[in-house]
Formats: sequence, C-alpha cells, structure tokens
Amino acid sequence: MEHTDFIEALSTDDLDAIRAAPKTDVHSHAFLSTRLKNLEHWLGFSLTKPPKRMRGLEEMMEYINEVLSHHIITRESFKFVASAGVNDAIQDGVVVLEMSFDIRMAEYYPDELVGVQVFLKTLVGQYQTQVELRPELGFPRTHADDVKLMKLAHEAIELGVFQSIDLYSYEEACAPEAVKPLYAKARAAGMKLKAHVGEFGGTEEVRQTVEVLDLDEVQHGIAAAESIEIMQWLSQNQIQLNMCPTSNVMLSAVPNLASHPIRILFDNGVPVTINTDDLMIFGQSVSEEYRNLYQAGVFSAQELDNIRRASLTSFTME
Ligand SMILES: [Zn+2]
Repeated sequence: MEHTDFIEALSTDDLDAIRAAPKTDVHSHAFLSTRLKNLEHWLGFSLTKPPKRMRGLEEMMEYINEVLSHHIITRESFKFVASAGVNDAIQDGVVVLEMSFDIRMAEYYPDELVGVQVFLKTLVGQYQTQVELRPELGFPRTHADDVKLMKLAHEAIELGVFQSIDLYSYEEACAPEAVKPLYAKARAAGMKLKAHVGEFGGTEEVRQTVEVLDLDEVQHGIAAAESIEIMQWLSQNQIQLNMCPTSNVMLSAVPNLASHPIRILFDNGVPVTINTDDLMIFGQSVSEEYRNLYQAGVFSAQELDNIRRASLTSFTME
C-alpha cells in the first residue's frame, strides 16, 4: 500500500520513503533544473549562493545575471543542466516530468530546431525507463514582439516533440493577446496549454489569461486565492494551478510557508499540484516541498497524499 507508506513517511519524517513514492513535477524550467551543487561540481568551482529572500523576479534575475548566466548559457552547459535536472527528478521519485525548454535554446544549434529536436528526443529516450519526460515549449513574455523568435516557436510546435506550452518572465511584459495565435496553434496540435500568471500580478489577470489563451493549467496563480469568485470559477472549470511554495517564499510573493495560499485554493476546490520551479535557485525537490508543507502545518499527510495521487491521475487518465 504505497500511499499509506507516503503518509507514514511524512509523519515520521523519512525523506527517503517520501522520495520513494511516485510524484509529478509539472513546473520545472530546464535551464535552472538541477541543484546548484551539481553545476558547481561540473564546473569544478563553487558559486555564490542565491539570497534566501529576493525582491521578486527582478532580484532573481540580478542573481542569475551576476552569478549563473555565463556558466549556463552555452550549449554544453545547457545540455549538462537539463540532463542533470532530469536525473535529480528521477532520484526524487518523479515519474512524470513536464520540463519547460525555452525556445531561445535553438540559438545553440546552427541548424536551430533540427538540433533542438535531436537533443530532446535523445534526452527523452535516454531516461524513458525511469521517467516520462514530456518536453514543454517555453516562451518568454519579454520576447512577444521578437518576430524571429515567435516564428521559431510556431515552427517548434510542428516538430511534434513538445507536449505542452508555457509562457513566463515578467507578467506585465506582454498581454496574453500577443501570444494568442501561438496558443491557438498549440491547441490545434493537441498540446496542453499553460502560462505563468498570478505569481506577482492580480486576480483579474489570472482569469483574463485563462480565458484569452484557453489555458488548461496555470503556473503559480496564487493571486486567485484573493477572490472566492475566481476560485469557484477555477474549480468549476477544473483549471489546475501548478504551485511552487518555496519559490513563492524566496521571491517574496508570500510572507512564509505556513501562510501559503495553496491551503485556501485547496479548500475552495481548485486543483493544485506541488512542484520545484527552479531547483538551482530554490533548492527544494518535490519531495522536500511536500515535507516542508507538512512540517509547516499547511496540510495533513493524508491531504498531501491526496494531492500527490491526483497529480498522477491526471496523466494516467489520458
Ligand atoms: Zn516558473
């Protein structure tokens, strides 16, 4: 009885047993997907650690630009980080990994999308006995008016290798309408539609973005907890929110774990999942996120097991 073990593992704080239970990670960005110590080991020297609290995405980008950028923005380092990230997920008991690959990775290959396709197919194949890796097409809001990149994203959908799509970076950088044709194309290709919204922005942006882009799922969406009406609407439409509690605390979107709005969302019937976001920055695996939420008193072990099992069911029912 595997789910009984998970409950017992949480209540006895047995991290190895928490890891052993199957889990999903559906909010993970490939560029920052492995632990910092793995990157340091690969580089052969240590790096400045991220601040424990940052003022939103701005301060996180400052850290990335100052400390990480020149170590991760090459084809070889990207290949290392993504593959080490998949391996970290496997070690953590993740059996379905929806990992977001930024379209800008095409710049690493002289033949652009041909190289991307080969890389992703190889990565999926390399780990297929251990994890169902579902590559996600990632598009940065800051580049919505970049004609070349947008064209590349449209072409990337035709590769057939991406199973979902995600939009991220500063919420105010573009309105959802700017990527509507891209999302319509992804929908026609049978892809799952996701976008980051309501992480720092407001409740109304969550509803607008879901409606304009016809989203299946929202990355973060914590602002929805401010409105009973929006939560009821999300619940009725079964729009899943893929939450990353430690990310929200470290980026000061919420004051602390104990008061994380995931509890309010859950109580109002909004489907929620628990994920890593950027393991290199936030340092907490999915198992550790479950454990943290239990120890902070946000959920009972039974509730966390229900969340874990529901996250798996959404894939087995396809
Ligand atoms: Zn994210």
